[in-house]
Amino acid sequence: MIQSTSPPEYFLDQNGRLTQPLQLFLTTAFGLSAPSLKETVWVSFEEGQLNTIDRWWCRITKLDRTFSATVKGNKVFYSKKKRTPLEWLYLIAHEQVHRHDIDAEYFFYLKYITEGVFTSYRNISAERRAYAISSLAPGKETDALTLLLRQKPKMTGALLPYIKEELSQRLSNKMV
Ligand SMILES: [Zn+2]
Repeated sequence: MIQSTSPPEYFLDQNGRLTQPLQLFLTTAFGLSAPSLKETVWVSFEEGQLNTIDRWWCRITKLDRTFSATVKGNKVFYSKKKRTPLEWLYLIAHEQVHRHDIDAEYFFYLKYITEGVFTSYRNISAERRAYAISSLAPGKETDALTLLLRQKPKMTGALLPYIKEELSQRLSNKMV
C-alpha cells in the first residue's frame, strides 16, 4: 500500500489548498461549508516555512509527536507522518470539520478550551463531531466516512479512482 509523508496531490494542491473534487466531496457528503474548505491552507509543520506566530502556535499545541494536525484560523498544520491515501482523507476530513466549526462559532477556541478543562479530549463536543466522521478504529462501523464509502460509493465520485485500491482491500478484509 502506498504511503506518503504529504497529502496526495489529488487531495491538496501545491499551495496547500484542497482540490476541487475533494471540496465537492466534503461539502456534499458532510455539509461542510464551501468557504471554509476553499480558504483553508494546509501547512507542513516540519518544512521550516512557518512564521513566528505559527511556530509559537505549533509549540503551545505540542504539534510534535503527539499531534498529527492542528488548526489555527484558516490554517491546518500537519506532521509529516507516513499515511496511506485513505488515512490522509480521514485526517483531512477530521480537521476540516474543525475548520467548519471555527468559521461558524465565534467562540470556538474559548469553548474548546473550557470544555477541555472538564472533560477528556475525545469528549469535547468539537472532537466528537470530528471523530464521528473520521474515527479510524479497525472494524468500527459507526464513523460517517466508513459508512459513506461503503454504502454510497458513487458519492465518492471523483475521489474514488484514487482510493479505490485501498478501499477494495479494506472491503475484502471486512475492515470497512
Ligand atoms: Zn480534532
